[in-house]
Amino acid sequence: MLASTTSRIALQARATLAQRFYATGAGANTLLYVEHKDGAIGGATLNALTAANKLGGSVTALVAGDAPESVAKEVGKLTGVSKVLFAKDAAYANALPENVAPLLAAAQSQFGFTHLFAGHTAIGKNIFPRAAALMDVAAVSDIVDIVGEDTFVRPIYAGNAIATVKSNDKIKVVTVRGTAFEAAAASGDAASEEAAPSADKPALTQWISEEIQKSDRPDLGTAKRVISGGRGMKNGENFSLLYDLADKIGAAVGASRAAVDAGFVDNSLQVGQTGKIVAPELYVAVGISGAIQHLAGMKDSKTIVAINKDADAPIFQVADYGLVEDLFKAVPELTEKISK
Ligand SMILES: Cc1cc2nc3c(=O)[nH]c(=O)nc-3n(C[C@H](O)[C@H](O)[C@H](O)COP(=O)(O)OP(=O)(O)OC[C@H]3O[C@@H](n4cnc5c(N)ncnc54)[C@H](O)[C@@H]3O)c2cc1C
Repeated sequence: MLASTTSRIALQARATLAQRFYATGAGANTLLYVEHKDGAIGGATLNALTAANKLGGSVTALVAGDAPESVAKEVGKLTGVSKVLFAKDAAYANALPENVAPLLAAAQSQFGFTHLFAGHTAIGKNIFPRAAALMDVAAVSDIVDIVGEDTFVRPIYAGNAIATVKSNDKIKVVTVRGTAFEAAAASGDAASEEAAPSADKPALTQWISEEIQKSDRPDLGTAKRVISGGRGMKNGENFSLLYDLADKIGAAVGASRAAVDAGFVDNSLQVGQTGKIVAPELYVAVGISGAIQHLAGMKDSKTIVAINKDADAPIFQVADYGLVEDLFKAVPELTEKISK
């Protein structure tokens, strides 16, 4: 009960904050770190830009990579971006923090940025604390709201309390929870471009290779609908039941850590405190008990549906609609009914 009650209080607090107008900090001079891959801007960067725009003041976007040109053009068209800094160097190809953090520090020192913003993604989480340490300031992570230029709202204790923090540091190094802000769109006007200052590239680390899980389904982090399976799925093959349902309604598929640890699905599908944070319009939890660490990743979803054969499973305390039923009966039935 505790988790659902506190989260509701937190949501109410957030709604109140959202209605309040943000301090229009004409003095804010923000650097937005742009995440990109294969020529596409990372989704969370668009949310971080909306957050940066709420601060007021100006926003400069930094695009670093071995071929940043096309991304820099795209970024320049986004609402609220007044300037684009680009850093073209093979050392920036895979966003290694050892190379990118000094670049952020050099850009800050040249342009006197008051704020540095990035999405709270694996990449943002990797680079930003290192950049904060180089600038000798405390990083502020995973913000869900902005009260003013120096005051931010962030969840703690796996989302069971909401902390409002004030930073007295001269430079605010902040990562932004993507699901808490709308994605910024293109406004059409291209911003001016300029080369970023040169910085140390200590090359302490080397990028070897990566393995990417490819799927035709929507991206888990930004999907409007998510269907997740837990230990109750019993094995990886049974996830096909969820894929069938997901494909019918254009949903992404997620999983609990138990399902990932048991090898049912890839780690990239994990939802929760140590996985992805999602807040889709519809979240369907199938065979998931609703551990506090799982709820941390999905309890801000608009509508939560739970299918579980245990009526006492904690997931039912946060579910808007719950079905106490064997999932192997309920899921195929649901898929069939939706197909009609
Ligand atoms: C530091 C830390 C970080 C963690 N981070 C995460 C995280 O990011 N994400 C995460 O998910 N977990 C995380 N966990 C793990 C978490 O505590 C739980 O262990 C995990 O979420 C449980 O997964 P589950 O609900 O799938 O499994 P279980 O808790 O075992 O629940 C399985 C559920 O399936 C139901 N079930 C079984 N068979 C059927 C059936 N045939 N039909 C219908 N229902 C059925 C059962 O009734 C049960 O409720 C973390 C734990 C720690 C300590």
